[in-house]
Amino acid sequence: MKGNIDFQRNATANIERFWEKEAEKLDWFKPWDKVLEWKEPFAKWFVGGMLNASYLCVDCHLYSWHKNKVALYWEDEAGNTKAFSYFQLYREVNKFASMLKNLGVKKGDRVVLYLPMIPELTIAMLATARIGAIHTVVFSGFSSQALADRINDTSAEVLIAADFGIRRGKYIPLKDIVDEALKIAPIIEKVVVIKRTEEAINMVAGRDLIYSDLIKEADDYVEPVPLESSHPLYILYTSGTTGKPKGVVHSTGGYLAYIYATYKWVFDISDESVYWCTADVGWVTGHTSIVYAPLLHGATVLMYEGAPDYPNPDRWWEIIEKYGVTIFYTSPTAIKMFMRYGEERVKRFNLSSLKILGSVGEVINPEVWAWYYTHIGGERCPIVDTWWQTETGGIMISPVPGIELVPLKPGSATLPLPGIDAEVVDEDGKPVETGIKGHLAIRKPWPGMLMGLYKDPERYKEVYWSKFKGLFYTGDYAIKDEDGYFWLLGRTDEVLKIAGHRLGTAEIEGAVVEAPFVAEAAVIGTPDPIKGENIIVFAILKEGYEPADELKKEIIQEVRKQIGPIATPQEIHFVEKLPKTRSGKIMRRVLKTIIMGNPLGDLSTLEDEASVDEVKAVYEEFKQMMSGGA
Ligand code: AMP
Repeated sequence: MKGNIDFQRNATANIERFWEKEAEKLDWFKPWDKVLEWKEPFAKWFVGGMLNASYLCVDCHLYSWHKNKVALYWEDEAGNTKAFSYFQLYREVNKFASMLKNLGVKKGDRVVLYLPMIPELTIAMLATARIGAIHTVVFSGFSSQALADRINDTSAEVLIAADFGIRRGKYIPLKDIVDEALKIAPIIEKVVVIKRTEEAINMVAGRDLIYSDLIKEADDYVEPVPLESSHPLYILYTSGTTGKPKGVVHSTGGYLAYIYATYKWVFDISDESVYWCTADVGWVTGHTSIVYAPLLHGATVLMYEGAPDYPNPDRWWEIIEKYGVTIFYTSPTAIKMFMRYGEERVKRFNLSSLKILGSVGEVINPEVWAWYYTHIGGERCPIVDTWWQTETGGIMISPVPGIELVPLKPGSATLPLPGIDAEVVDEDGKPVETGIKGHLAIRKPWPGMLMGLYKDPERYKEVYWSKFKGLFYTGDYAIKDEDGYFWLLGRTDEVLKIAGHRLGTAEIEGAVVEAPFVAEAAVIGTPDPIKGENIIVFAILKEGYEPADELKKEIIQEVRKQIGPIATPQEIHFVEKLPKTRSGKIMRRVLKTIIMGNPLGDLSTLEDEASVDEVKAVYEEFKQMMSGGA
């Protein structure tokens, strides 16, 4: 343990020298003139350096034994498979890049990718990066409205979509969703459709094009464009406390150097690894762990399309055995789900290829940790509980078996990575005593740090840098113990984590009030034993409407339409008033306290106590109804 702490202290003492050494491990077209330009809160890393992500992830592997090794295995729930060697991936990426060029896509243009978990998603990301365009991947579980919002914010003109996604044996009509979205986002001029089924789809003449036709015209090779280190690699939208999702912008050089180093430390990844991360590429975990980090390292990536327990709960263990997965990275929600099915099922599979297990997205409680360690890792594999977020680009707090194995403590993400100066602070930004809960904050810039929010520097400053002077605000609570270990305690803000997916209460409230009969809404999250949190809606109806189950159904429909099925509310309660402060802010804390049955505490800022009584009465009635009472 001591060694790691020393390493970390040495690293944070001179971050520029430290990160420069890590960045040198990548193959740059031109070295940088300056390691860091820090005009708080804007960081530019490796200024003047030139590189290309696609070149690093594919071309670089053509000159060694990697050329003919498998870069990407793909399998879906029905057992269909594909495999691409690094050379084949290189070829596909080049052709895709040529197709984008033929469509007129240039350096700096945004390209929206609305694709399920198919190899073309990885190929499209690398192809976009190859020509210096910027990708925005929209999770294919998001609805037409969510897709349209992201298209409009990025003002992209080209969209890549698939005809269908496939989940639990059902076809999800992605192209229809695109058509809906483009009614409110008409800026898109070209839609390239990757057809994976024989089903007929609607095609708009002049706008919609079929991928397999275009690719026939594409060249085999496209020169990777040398890009300035701070050239944006991607924009990825994520939820925050207020308003619409924020477009987090990541750089090329800083981001790639950061994830290259940290995936070595955390996962001990190498060209011999078979790496399986079960996230969707539509989230940052997928961007970094399914695409960029393993390919930079010349590892073999496994990409799986489908639900974890379909067609049966053995699917994942079958896959680990079949492909000899060495590094397995998933969420506590998934592990909890498998715990329910019992370990007997797992025992039927040979999981001895596994070397390291990872956890991400939520706190992993010690019981879940122990099950994962014992039954999946066979008590051999260290668990890396990795804390990070869309904004950090890569892992920030985690054990580092690739450097040395510190004693693990189930439920703690352990220590900040070398070069990361994390602290737990009080409301004034001062470090708290050992064992006291505070805000997790980061003191110095790091190469994977977001460059900003797309087209919104003011919001970037406001959201991350205004709460504490000189500290990056993460929005998470944490405690540091006597060994300096960090224990994450959930979000401090109005952000929910549903099955590891990040959603803002404001976003869901915005969707609820789209129902024509809703005057106002408040959303809270309550604990769920499997998926982390449930979404609970309180809605005030407009004059002339009476509470009815029909209206609840319509609200659910509206939320699914505005955001997607992941945001489906668990409970909807109609009230006449919401608890608010005197300045008119909804007191979600009060709503949550009532639902949880906890003591209400200080209500001095509450405007009208009758609202609390009403919520209590409504919830009491609901509980009685659920328990079959009067
Ligand atoms: P996202 O930006 O969607 O990746 O979500 C980031 C958020 O997920 C963080 O701010 C945390 O609240 C939560 N999170 C991620 N990893 C962990 C972890 N290992 N332990 C606890 N919470 C986590």
